[in-house]
Amino acid sequence: MLYFSTRNSNAKVTASEAISRGLAPDGGLYVPETLPQLTLDDIKALGKTDYRGRALGIMRLFLDEFEEDELKTMIAKAYGDNFDTPDTAPLHFVDGKTAVLELWHGPTCAFKDMALQMLPHLLTASLKKCGEKRKVCILVATSGDTGKAALEGFADVEDTKILVFYPHNGVSDVQKLQMITQTGNNVSVAAVRGNFDDAQTGVKQIFADKDFAGELSVKGWFLSSANSINWGRLLPQIVYYFSAYCDFANSGRIEYGDALDFVVPTGNFGNILACWYAKNMGLPVGKLICASNQNNVLADFFERGVYDRNRKFYTTISPSMDILVSSNLERLIYSVCKSSDEVSGYMSQLSKTGRYEVSGEIKSVISEYFVGGYCTDEDTKKTIGSVYAENGYLMDTHTAVAYKKLIDYRASEGNSAAAVVVSTASPYKFCDSVLSALGRDNAASGTQLIEMLSEVTGTKVPKPLAGLDRREKRFDLVVDKQDMKAAVADFLK
Ligand SMILES: *Cc1c(COP(=O)(O)O)cnc(C)c1O
Repeated sequence: MLYFSTRNSNAKVTASEAISRGLAPDGGLYVPETLPQLTLDDIKALGKTDYRGRALGIMRLFLDEFEEDELKTMIAKAYGDNFDTPDTAPLHFVDGKTAVLELWHGPTCAFKDMALQMLPHLLTASLKKCGEKRKVCILVATSGDTGKAALEGFADVEDTKILVFYPHNGVSDVQKLQMITQTGNNVSVAAVRGNFDDAQTGVKQIFADKDFAGELSVKGWFLSSANSINWGRLLPQIVYYFSAYCDFANSGRIEYGDALDFVVPTGNFGNILACWYAKNMGLPVGKLICASNQNNVLADFFERGVYDRNRKFYTTISPSMDILVSSNLERLIYSVCKSSDEVSGYMSQLSKTGRYEVSGEIKSVISEYFVGGYCTDEDTKKTIGSVYAENGYLMDTHTAVAYKKLIDYRASEGNSAAAVVVSTASPYKFCDSVLSALGRDNAASGTQLIEMLSEVTGTKVPKPLAGLDRREKRFDLVVDKQDMKAAVADFLK
């Protein structure tokens, strides 16, 4: 199985090269040359195994350079006791035809763990296969959640180090505590005096600095990112769509072969793209409902075929979806039009004007399978409140955006087909908004809110978030933006 860039289908690379590089040299994203096909019997066989078995069954199809035992070992490390349930990604049935796929049972209580617990193992193995002798140092600029998920993923992974920069005073108390209490001998965290953009620009400048790369190389290091466009982050996400389908069918609420709709709270378009790939591999997916918050650039795209980032940016209560450029959409467009020239054309328009309009053929394919929609903060809160009151199920703000879009879709189509709402974070990650949605506006802050949510709902605080303020605070470095490079040099000394 080979891979090529969405912008040049001629230059093919192996899976390990695609994962080692992240982004293709032409700026495109790596895609597999074909998608493996599964029959209904194959899917039923996956349904008889546990999550690790399902992960092996799917990922081996894309990673034929890896030995089966090698993959098994990586999967056992990625999806083991670090999750608080042996099901790894359990389905919770809200009613007979609606289930929530909980992707937040990992060490940071959010869905990024599904990919970032696996990526470090795939990356280190890929680097070895590519003959890389140097060790890798991961640099991350974070607005909060990705940094912590990357720290957890890389902590104590051999031959790696990771340094995370976050904006000083720009993350929540809980996010900060999560990062500065991170354990592991190869991790570090630094606050940058500035906002998220300053931190991100600083990291980009370090990556672009050829002289610095040369100096580090002499010392046996090279720098990489754990970016969400890396194939090694996307692949593990395909698994849970198969897994959710099997669990739904095993519950007897649908038959193997029946269609199942999926609703996905979307930002960078990685999560829902994995669902699209699963569908194209033979999984009986009905509609893919792409749910956005007030930053509704994707909702407009699915309605009119025009992607236009020239619009106001909103800060919402579902911050992980506050995004105006959804990078992984490029892979969807390639998958539909199969022309790297056409994709290159759209992407160059996007970088020049911030806008592109896809062809009539692309529009007709995507409108057949995708439904877009967006949800305001007010409706997000109402949905948290009403689903909790009526069904006793507590959701976070991102999940509620998706849930609301399912309710709207069913009402507008007069349909009530079986559906899965993809849940991307524990409600405990967004206590402030969740408490307010339950009518408990209050003056508490930080870790107090965690305790309060537990008291109000009678639910248990997830272990990774319990007693955060009592853990050892390991990192207190604060740097100016121009000193970020020196911090990296010092970390790798
Ligand atoms: C990252 C994230 C999303 C968005 O996922 P994409 O793959 O970027 O579309 C949604 N919800 C939460 C909680 C996230 O952390």
